[in-house]
Amino acid sequence: MKSCDAPAPDASRLTVDTAALVANWRRFARAGSGAACGAAVKADGYGLGARRIAAALVAAGCRDLFVAHWHEVAALGPLPEGVRVAVLHGVMPGDMAKALAAPAVPVLVTAAQVQAWKATGRACDIMVDTGLNRLGIGMAEARSGLLDGLDIDTLHSHLACSETPDNPANEAQRIAFTDLAAAIPARRRALANSAGITLGPGWHFDLTRPGIGLYGGGASPDAAPLAAVAGIAARIIQLRDVPAGASIGYGATYTAATPLRVAVVALGYADGYARSLSNRGRALVAGVACPVVGRVSMDLTIIDVSAAPDLAEGDWLSMDFDLGATAAASGRSEYELLTGLGARYARVYT
Ligand SMILES: *Cc1c(COP(=O)(O)O)cnc(C)c1O
Repeated sequence: MKSCDAPAPDASRLTVDTAALVANWRRFARAGSGAACGAAVKADGYGLGARRIAAALVAAGCRDLFVAHWHEVAALGPLPEGVRVAVLHGVMPGDMAKALAAPAVPVLVTAAQVQAWKATGRACDIMVDTGLNRLGIGMAEARSGLLDGLDIDTLHSHLACSETPDNPANEAQRIAFTDLAAAIPARRRALANSAGITLGPGWHFDLTRPGIGLYGGGASPDAAPLAAVAGIAARIIQLRDVPAGASIGYGATYTAATPLRVAVVALGYADGYARSLSNRGRALVAGVACPVVGRVSMDLTIIDVSAAPDLAEGDWLSMDFDLGATAAASGRSEYELLTGLGARYARVYT
């Protein structure tokens, strides 16, 4: 049997609500004051399946997709004419043949990449660093003549502090980017990630690059909360009665104060259900919160289901995967929660 014919795993399930994804994208697009609205689909669409995510967004009208690596281009599958994929890491040494063959353009991030790309005569995007001091061509370097003769489609920069709207770095980067863009011939300018869009029209330019917001994380671009996109559920392998005074799980970190009914579910940190959700996470049974008790282990999590007496072995249990609350409870960012989802889920797209 070929591996692609293997039966889907049936013990844990990741549900991806593509209607919610599209609704979120439309709201960021609407908030972008006329700028084209792209989508960051790197890291397998923030862990949710880049091919399906891209297909849903493209069907809704998205025309600019962003990935980090060249191999992430092929993973998007065939895309219709007019959809543009940009590779945020540019062309690293040894990647030129791959880059020239791919149906995508590089976002060049170093002087060496620019020099190498000039020989191709093809269009490209450029990332300039206006204060993040991560990846990109420096502002002085960008003005030095390095970019002369390049066919630049989109000039990009990336914000350091967009999640904190009052941070003066946002205005400083906006001004630096505006000044620089006036000196560099490019067809489009792009500065804002999801949180950058929420900063206001001054940050929108010609194209935006939202990511986390499309998947339901971070700040909303309007008055309503973002729609949740990812849901996780796992099956109950065993139900047990634990007497008062007994401890539960590795390290005996939880002791039952009263007799408990617990469910052992097929979900663990190997599935991206963070170990830091030990004694902190929860499942939801018909709206009733059922707490994780004891340590989350690699493949198993134990849940106090005393408040849900009708559950049976083999039933599915939905975990509370509200991104904000789960990030706060786990000490992980919303980005880590999504991109850390493991490979064992049966993925269901609705
Ligand atoms: C990942 C990324 C984005 C998307 O950021 P979010 O915070 O997820 O909206 C935008 N631009 C660049 C350059 C990125 O690397």
